[in-house]
Order: sequence, then structure tokens, then C-alpha cells
Amino acid sequence: MMNSDKTYKNLIGGQWVESLGRKTFENINPADSNDRIGTFQQSNAEDIAAAVAAARAAFPGWKRTPSPKRAEILYRAGRLLAERKEALACDMTREMGKPLEETRGDVQEAIDMTLYMAGEGRRLFGQTTTSELPSKFCMSVRSPIGVCGLITPWNFPMAIPAWKMMPALICGNTVVIKPAEDTPLSAFNLVKILAEAGLPPGVANCLSGFGPEAGGPLASHPDVPVISFTGSTETGREVAHAGADHSKHLCLEMGGKNVIIVLEDANLDLAIDGAVWGGFGTTGQRCTASSRVVVHQDIYREFLQRFVERTRALKVGNGINPGIQVGPLINEAQLRKVEQYVEIGTKEGAKALCGAKRLTGGEYDHGWFYAPTIFSGCTPGMRICQEEIFGPVVTLIPCSNLENAIEIGNGVAYGLSSSIYTRNINNAFKAMQEMETGIFYVNAPTIGAETHLPFGGTKSTGNGHREAATTALDFYSEWKSIYIDYSDRLQRAQIDT
Ligand code: ADP
Repeated sequence: MMNSDKTYKNLIGGQWVESLGRKTFENINPADSNDRIGTFQQSNAEDIAAAVAAARAAFPGWKRTPSPKRAEILYRAGRLLAERKEALACDMTREMGKPLEETRGDVQEAIDMTLYMAGEGRRLFGQTTTSELPSKFCMSVRSPIGVCGLITPWNFPMAIPAWKMMPALICGNTVVIKPAEDTPLSAFNLVKILAEAGLPPGVANCLSGFGPEAGGPLASHPDVPVISFTGSTETGREVAHAGADHSKHLCLEMGGKNVIIVLEDANLDLAIDGAVWGGFGTTGQRCTASSRVVVHQDIYREFLQRFVERTRALKVGNGINPGIQVGPLINEAQLRKVEQYVEIGTKEGAKALCGAKRLTGGEYDHGWFYAPTIFSGCTPGMRICQEEIFGPVVTLIPCSNLENAIEIGNGVAYGLSSSIYTRNINNAFKAMQEMETGIFYVNAPTIGAETHLPFGGTKSTGNGHREAATTALDFYSEWKSIYIDYSDRLQRAQIDT
């Protein structure tokens, strides 16, 4: 892999500029520490303030641009993303580590969201309704809010920025995005394409940098009324506190401890395919990862043996190479976290049936590779069954029946995604009704969200908002209710009826 001396700058007010603090950091390939991707600006509060000022200045013009015109820009961006999909996916694999097949999917998700929200440019529907008074007309319309501060994680380096930017933009807001420090390039690729597609200067601003130094000042900036954050639960809480003083609109998407339930009548081949993909896809680094599998006791042994066999055969390596199924962890801290949890699980009395070690030797010595790990002998209350590990570690828990499985499934602090494998439609519907998660699948793993359905979770996963779909429009716009009285006299609601 070629080393790059390229320096990437921040996009503020349509200009590519250096950080005012003159500090930079390196973006390094998690699969190969010899591969330097480029130098990025280590932005600070002053840079954030400049970006917010640019976004504020651009707001009146963008807000008054008819939404079908805004949409034309998004359509052009969608086409550019599609034309460059392969190069964008290669950049992403290099900075994030997941295999090319998956990064192509990530870019595709950004394309889908861009085109979906472009379509909304000719809808953005409100309601028209009747009045309780004669000669009076009522309707509700969406209004843009202002500058949206977007703080994104590294696991979906382009998809998540697109999930947040596209609905914000189509609604007429301007944005300042601070992507994760591990994967700034994909967010830069995205805003560069938006600029090429004709987005006016200042409408989308992008700054690289670290959490407390750049994300913090964005979250607390008084001129940023909207904050959308995806990341860890701890950071989400900090962001919520930072926003509380200014009564900001906050959308928080945080952790998960998702469950696949496998009943005794399940198609076992399908369930195992799902558990492998849901548990080890993206090296388990998805908020929707299937990190727990609850299996009916009658099929537990068989499931376990076959699941372990399949997991051992997974090809772990540099995701840029053909045939690789599992890439590295994103960074050393994440590797250490996985190592610690495996130690915790072992001490708790669970048994690692495969993996449970860092991979070393050859190319592995230059990256953060960890062998896919399955724990059996788990009880639902163990820390490894309760806490989000965000790595290639799956815990297996036996259950006695559907009710027991649902109880175990719901018995965590999080509520993002869950799934059931069964051929019994009654059981499927019962689980659908009883599972407390924001997303539920039948005969599929807990991952695989599509852009036109609401995305988000209950309990500690979120704060009640949903991303994607038209639900995102509700977050990025403010409702305005309008009453038009053409009676030519004073009519008093609730009184003159
Ligand atoms: P992870 O543990 O998955 O890396 P984080 O929650 O730390 O998740 O990071 C998600 C995003 O939040 C990143 O863009 C990161 O830079 C940012 N971030 C981290 N700490 C803060 C903070 N104190 N305030 C605002 N943003 C932060």
C-alpha cells in the first residue's frame, strides 16, 4: 500500500482551510500501521466557531432555496457517489478496515440516503385539516431550524454522515460535521462531492479532530440549536449535558446489546448464517451487532458446534484483499477493550469455544486483528452478556422456551435491535410484540437496516428519536401550525363554537 503525504484541510464556508491551532494528526490504516493515509487537521474550539459562523451566514439563503432546488443538488451528489463508489469504498476500507464488500455497502447506504432525501425535496409533506370554526383553514408546514452539529462515529464512516446530513440539508438547515478521528477521509469525500454537486459555500462544513477538543465545542456552541450524535453511551451523555443549557434538539444514537433468538423449529442453516454475519460482520463493530444468541436448549449443542465451526473458518485479514471476511479492529484501544472483556468473561465462568486471542504473525503484526470469539456457558446477567463490547465476541445463552428467550432478550439496558429465527408464525408475531427494541427482524440477524425505515432504539440506546426515513425529517425540522381565517370577523376557538 502506498503511503500518502497528502494533507487534508477543513471545509469551512466553501474554503479548504487549516486549523487555526496549526495542529494535525495522522490517519493510519488499522490493518497496516505502515500505511499512512494522510494528515488531517486537529481542529479546536476556534475552528468550530468559524465553521458555525459560516453555517449561520449560509442559513438564510439555503432556507429560502426551494426544497426541489435543494434536491437537485442532492440528486447530483447521489450520482457522483454512485460513479465513484469503488474508489470511495477503497478509501474507506483503508481507513476503517472493514472488507471491500462491506464498504461498498456503506457507500451504497450513503447513495440511498442521498437519493431518498432528494426525493423528499418534492414532498416534505405537512397536513391540511379542517377548523372547528367556519371560514377558517388550517395546515402545518415544516420549517428549517438552523445550524445542525453532527458528530459521527467510525464504524459507518460515510453512511452515518449521510444519514445525518441529507435529511438536515433537504429540510433547509446548514450543517457542521465533526467525523470520528479514526475515519475522517470518508466524511471529507462526502462533503467534497456535495460541494462539487453545487452545494453553496457554508451550507455544509466539515472539520476533523478529536472528541473533547472539537466535538465538545460543537455540542455546546450556543448558535447550534440541533445536535445529532452517534457513538458510545458515555460520550452521548456528555453531549446531552453539553446541549442541555441551550435546550438543544438532541438526537442520540448510542449502544446496543442485540439478541438473536433461535427457537427449536428454526431453519438452523439460516440461523447460523445469520449469527455469523450478525456477530462478526464489521468485526462486531456495529451498534446493531448480534452480540448475544439465545438458543433453545433442544438444539443448543448442535447450534453451538456448527456456529463454532463456521466461525473458526472465517478469513480474518486486510479487508482490501479478496476473500477476507473479517477486518481488523479500528484501533489499539478497541483491541484492548475486547481483550479485557474476554478476560472478564473467562473470570465470570464463561467458556471461550474459539478465538479469544489477538492474531499475530505476518501481516497480523501490523494491525489490530482479533480472532472471532464465541462464549458458551453464559448466564444472562454476566457482564459479557450485558455490556456492549463492540468487537468480534458473541455470547451464547440457552433458553427453555419463547417466554424465557424474550425475558433474556429484553433483560439488558439497551434496546436497539433484536431478531428471531422460527418457522412458527405465532411465535414470530409474539416476539415482534414483546421485544422492546426499536428494530426487529424475523429470520434475519439484527443488522441490515434500510434507509427508508426509522432507525434507532429504546431504553439506554437513544433518547426517543429515530434517524432515517421520514422520521428524520421530524427531527431536522420544526412544525409550524398555521390558521387562516377568511370569515372577516373575530372567531374565538373553543368559545365561539
Ligand atoms: P467510540 O467509542 O465508538 O469511538 P465515541 O463516542 O468516543 O465513540 O465517539 C463518537 C464521536 O464522538 C467521535 O466523533 C468522537 O470524536 C466524538 N466525541 C468523543 N468525545 C466527545 C465529547 N466529549 N464531546 C463531543 N464529541 C465527542
